[in-house]
Amino acid sequence: MLLPDTLAREIITSHHKQPRHVGPQPGQPHAERVNVSCGDQVQVWASQPGGLLSVTFVGRGCAISQASASLMTGLLGGKTRAEAAALAAEFRSMVLGEAAPSAALGDLVALAGVSKLLARRKCALLAWDALEEVLGGGGSDSLRSLTPSQPPPSRGRS
Ligand code: ZN
Repeated sequence: MLLPDTLAREIITSHHKQPRHVGPQPGQPHAERVNVSCGDQVQVWASQPGGLLSVTFVGRGCAISQASASLMTGLLGGKTRAEAAALAAEFRSMVLGEAAPSAALGDLVALAGVSKLLARRKCALLAWDALEEVLGGGGSDSLRSLTPSQPPPSRGRS
């Protein structure tokens, strides 16, 4: 499922100009990522009211990095950690050109073209790297290995 370039650009521009789910969640798990090569900066917060994720961000930088963050918060809101982990893995595979765009990624398929732009992959993955740190409490591998029966220690509880 690959979007026409014009539609993909429209989605990216819309989320860049009017990002969704912007704002800090004070006291909730939080991580920051900076992409020096492009000048992007993204901070991500994730809380779990009622067990389902609420994800917000604050950032600045190029359209790809900010649209990716905005789209991510929309997609992952209301999902479980396991679902978020699966979607993060799918998105990462798409951006790295390892997998075709999946309908499960919703409007994030607008970023599929980034797989051909090596220098921009970091932009697209910036918010997701921060998210994985927030949810996994460690490197990018910890979220991927998460299962619902194995919550990470000392994270996500208030
Ligand atoms: Zn960038």
